[in-house]
Amino acid sequence: MHLFQYRGSELFAEDLPVMELAEKYGTPLYIYSYNTLLRHFRAYTDAFNGYPHIICFAVKANSNSAILRLFAKNGGGADIVSGGELYITLKAGISPRKIVYAGVGKTEEEILFALKSKILMFNVESENELREIDRVAGIMKTRAAVALRINPDIDPETHPYIATGLRKHKFGIPIEDALENYRIASRMRNVNVIGIHKHIGSQITKVSPFVDALKRILILMDKLIAQGVKIEYLNVGGGLGIFYRNEEPPVPKDLAKNLIPLLKERRVTLIIEPGRSIVGNAGILVTKTLFLKEGEDKEFIIVDAGMNDLIRPSLYDAYHHILPVVRKKRKTIFADVVGPICESGDFLAKDRELKKIKQGEYLAVMSAGAYGFSMSSNYNSRPKAAEVMVKGREHFLIRERETYSDLIRNDMIPPFLK
Ligand SMILES: *Cc1c(COP(=O)(O)O)cnc(C)c1O
Repeated sequence: MHLFQYRGSELFAEDLPVMELAEKYGTPLYIYSYNTLLRHFRAYTDAFNGYPHIICFAVKANSNSAILRLFAKNGGGADIVSGGELYITLKAGISPRKIVYAGVGKTEEEILFALKSKILMFNVESENELREIDRVAGIMKTRAAVALRINPDIDPETHPYIATGLRKHKFGIPIEDALENYRIASRMRNVNVIGIHKHIGSQITKVSPFVDALKRILILMDKLIAQGVKIEYLNVGGGLGIFYRNEEPPVPKDLAKNLIPLLKERRVTLIIEPGRSIVGNAGILVTKTLFLKEGEDKEFIIVDAGMNDLIRPSLYDAYHHILPVVRKKRKTIFADVVGPICESGDFLAKDRELKKIKQGEYLAVMSAGAYGFSMSSNYNSRPKAAEVMVKGREHFLIRERETYSDLIRNDMIPPFLK
């Protein structure tokens, strides 16, 4: 599954003790396993091997350039949601012909950038966005390739904050309005309709929502084809869940086995947009215990990583396993693992059963590779953590720890205050 395992009492990242990396690079520290990333990426390419497909990694899950480069070198594309992600992705060497661009709020500037970069297509989320893309492509004297993101009104049975495919969500075009929107798009001068897109949510731990959603999309697709709309690409989105606590999510092979037969004779190129399922368990966040504190009725383990480094527990009440970097025979306690930030919502774990830990010892927050660093911030003026990639016995710094001067890089003092 992943390559963060104990050898004796020590937690290893591939063939290196996590402790050594923590001491060398300092904490908080994100550590990624190269071989886990590669294995998870290849699980997708292997599963869909034999059917025309592009694996477009969802960049928002982890936008480190070295990680994107790894996917680029293995033939991967990208699913992006902003001009910034487009910039990073191109710099990392991902072919623009494998970049698809979703998101409900694309600006004129971003649309221009994407058209100039000749990305594969826009995944369009509303009629008004369609009109804007048509207008901007007109200025550029080009035709914008688009797929319409259809909201199939399927419950992915996941956390409400990461469900996207229900009628009540802001994402995509409601399936009832799909035919009308395709009609509008087909008549546009500067728009070239080439596909259909859906993405129903994240951390989905069953195959059935994917199957149900695809069935609805295929009914629509057949109607579109009957009306002469050319659908060359079918984008089934991402959203496959991962193991955090006790989940037993399907793997890419299960997805392929259940989805490909539904396509029957329809000849399309499949696009898959996995994020979490590739990077989630390929990364950990290492943190150091600063202080222990006896609270009113529980213990607090105060560590040097906070919600600015990993916001998932605070934002989604997400569970992450927390493991000692060096296992000791100690008594078990129940504690809140909290960060240094001045917010009560700043915690990594609540009422967690852990072995007693001492000041200065390290903890590893597991399954932190997705929506970890990419959602991190400078709140409380905390420099962002360093990121390291481990490959066998080798380790590479893939993002320097930010410095204090980084914190004020863009600040400006008006002359009257000088
Ligand atoms: C976030 C997102 C994904 C990736 O979701 P994961 O759950 O990380 O696989 C894919 N497609 C779109 C459009 C997204 O917004």
